Amino acid sequence: MSAVLQRAQAGAETLTGSETMLEAVRAIARGPLMAMVDEIDRAGTYPDAIMRALGQAGAYRAQTSLDGNPDFVAAIQAVAEVSRVCGATGFMVWCQAACTLYMEQSGNPALIGQALERHVAGDALGGTALSNPMKAMTGIEQMLLKARKVADGYVVSGTLPWVSNLGSGHYFGAAATVIDSDVPAHEIMFMVPCDDPAIELRECPSFAGMEGTGTWGVRFTGFFVGAERLIADPVRPFLDKVRASFILLQVGMGLGVTQGAIDTMWDVEQQLGHVNQFLDDRPSELQSELDTLTLRTFALARILSAGEAVPLLDVLDVRAHASELALRSAQSALLHQGARGYLLSSSVQRRVRESHFVAIVTPALKHLRREMAKLSNPVMPS
Ligand SMILES: Cc1cc2nc3c(=O)[nH]c(=O)nc-3n(C[C@H](O)[C@H](O)[C@H](O)COP(=O)(O)OP(=O)(O)OC[C@H]3O[C@@H](n4cnc5c(N)ncnc54)[C@H](O)[C@@H]3O)c2cc1C
Repeated sequence: MSAVLQRAQAGAETLTGSETMLEAVRAIARGPLMAMVDEIDRAGTYPDAIMRALGQAGAYRAQTSLDGNPDFVAAIQAVAEVSRVCGATGFMVWCQAACTLYMEQSGNPALIGQALERHVAGDALGGTALSNPMKAMTGIEQMLLKARKVADGYVVSGTLPWVSNLGSGHYFGAAATVIDSDVPAHEIMFMVPCDDPAIELRECPSFAGMEGTGTWGVRFTGFFVGAERLIADPVRPFLDKVRASFILLQVGMGLGVTQGAIDTMWDVEQQLGHVNQFLDDRPSELQSELDTLTLRTFALARILSAGEAVPLLDVLDVRAHASELALRSAQSALLHQGARGYLLSSSVQRRVRESHFVAIVTPALKHLRREMAKLSNPVMPS
């Protein structure tokens, strides 16, 4: 983050404790995380100790109401600080944050209280399987999980192709369509422990990047959802409640990957500035665009923290801009670094792949543009 933004962030709106949390997050990101970033990316090692240490540092707590008002600015910054060093781990911080949202907003006594405390402390880790439901509910694809009503709950079957931040002892929020209910078709959302006997984690094919994210295919065979696991029934009003936070927290990934790319342009400025000056998207230009985008994101995050309604079009717009800026910055970093950046071991190579992920993970750039077009033109057919 630039000095301009650090000063803005240190302003009156910063909640007590957030700066201490961010300092601890930066220390983890630039210390132990930096030391194993290649191992995460190339060998696919899941950074379990780092994910837990970030919880101890308070990275997952800032967005909650456990200590008073939530501080979404600090929560987004935590995602950005981690993503600046490692996009894969930054994505998992977001997965944990999305799961935090589901638990806290569920109001279910089994998912708040001690369970939420353990989760935000990093003692328990979780993910989110809402890519498919988010797309299904806006008409892009069909729901993959189907639920059947039984006497004391629901039974769910189906397969999800990829869910991240999973492992033994982890859990994730998912949603299914109820297919044979007496009431009109509706969806339910629920928590899924990975170790339940009805759940099978299946290895995914190798990805171009984002290895080490604990990403698995998940098969459900008669998974039981009782009251203790229920996050929302029905789901649509719940999604309307969490959508802005879900998307805005993700912006942190784009901000961090962009900042990391800009950092690597400055690394070669002294040596290559005399020729790099002829390139487009120079680091100072990108930094200024990033700072403006960050300030816009923080302004929306402050509205969220105050518990007020955030204009969804603005949220989609900053998320789309973060994708585009990450793509342009990673590409420009490669051009600035030249052959150094073309080494397989270069952070620049890794960041190009991370920027691609920021643009394809749900909501992908194409979905964002579709939703923005629909909101700007309500008569457009879905
Ligand atoms: C590394 C990684 C981690 C992810 N982690 C999560 C997560 O934690 N939670 C989550 O909900 N989603 C996760 N996703 C899914 C992601 O958010 C997108 O939904 C996914 O990349 C599909 O994007 P799309 O909508 O652009 O679909 P498109 O690429 O346009 O494809 C359309 C549909 O086909 C399916 N599809 C395409 N290729 C394949 C394939 N090879 N095998 C099976 N189905 C396929 C897609 O899932 C999608 O439903 C992850 C994806 C990746 C690559």
